[in-house]
Amino acid sequence: MWSSTDIAGIGMTSQRTRNRMVARLRDQGIENEAVLSTMSVVPRHLFVDEAMATRAYEDASLPLGEGQTISQPIIVARMTEILMSIEGMHRVLEVGTGSGYQAAVLSRLVDSVYSVERIRSLLLKSRERFKALGYNNIMTRHSDGSWGWPGQGPYNGILVTAAPASIPDTLLDQLAINGVLVCPVGKQSGHQVLTVVHRTVSGFHTEYLDAVKFVPFLSGKM
Ligand code: SAH
Repeated sequence: MWSSTDIAGIGMTSQRTRNRMVARLRDQGIENEAVLSTMSVVPRHLFVDEAMATRAYEDASLPLGEGQTISQPIIVARMTEILMSIEGMHRVLEVGTGSGYQAAVLSRLVDSVYSVERIRSLLLKSRERFKALGYNNIMTRHSDGSWGWPGQGPYNGILVTAAPASIPDTLLDQLAINGVLVCPVGKQSGHQVLTVVHRTVSGFHTEYLDAVKFVPFLSGKM
């Protein structure tokens, strides 16, 4: 599917461009070195439409097909950094595979990534990317993520990349003790808040971070 030159990139998709993106992430407050070095190697330009490849490392969200978008690098970095701030981040569930970029970043940092997507055509494309790039610890499923992926849990981390009006209880149930869930919450028309839920032996503790803008969390498969 891709040659090693395609993967390495050239010009606006080169290592130098990825390094500049990472320098900006540092300026924007990302401190986790493992997250930064992972984002300097994962070829984001291969996860966006070919016509958009030269814009892949800009500070922008980009279309990935089917009216969905791949988050800005800073949002991917922040959500990943929150997840990695917890000890023992072995198994992660992602809801909303989309292009597969977020899953690819996670796959370099944790043991196993379980990612579910409701739009089949997107899932098929991201599976091809994982295969071509050798990201073999990402398991995917065509499913409505409202149900999580029960057979594989509990998860040390759950990352939701589409915004529900409220966090589905089913997802909270699949979070391990000492685990963390990161999810944008809110209506499409109103504002959404990046929400972080820690699970401890005594229950769930919720923190609200920045205002964000994600595509809606929808039910059903297509
Ligand atoms: N993490 C993705 C971002 C994709 S955008 C990436 O790195 O590219 C969010 C994705 O969530 C879309 O592909 C959308 O189809 C999917 N989605 C929305 N609601 C969902 C649900 N209930 N279950 C599974 N996927 C969902």
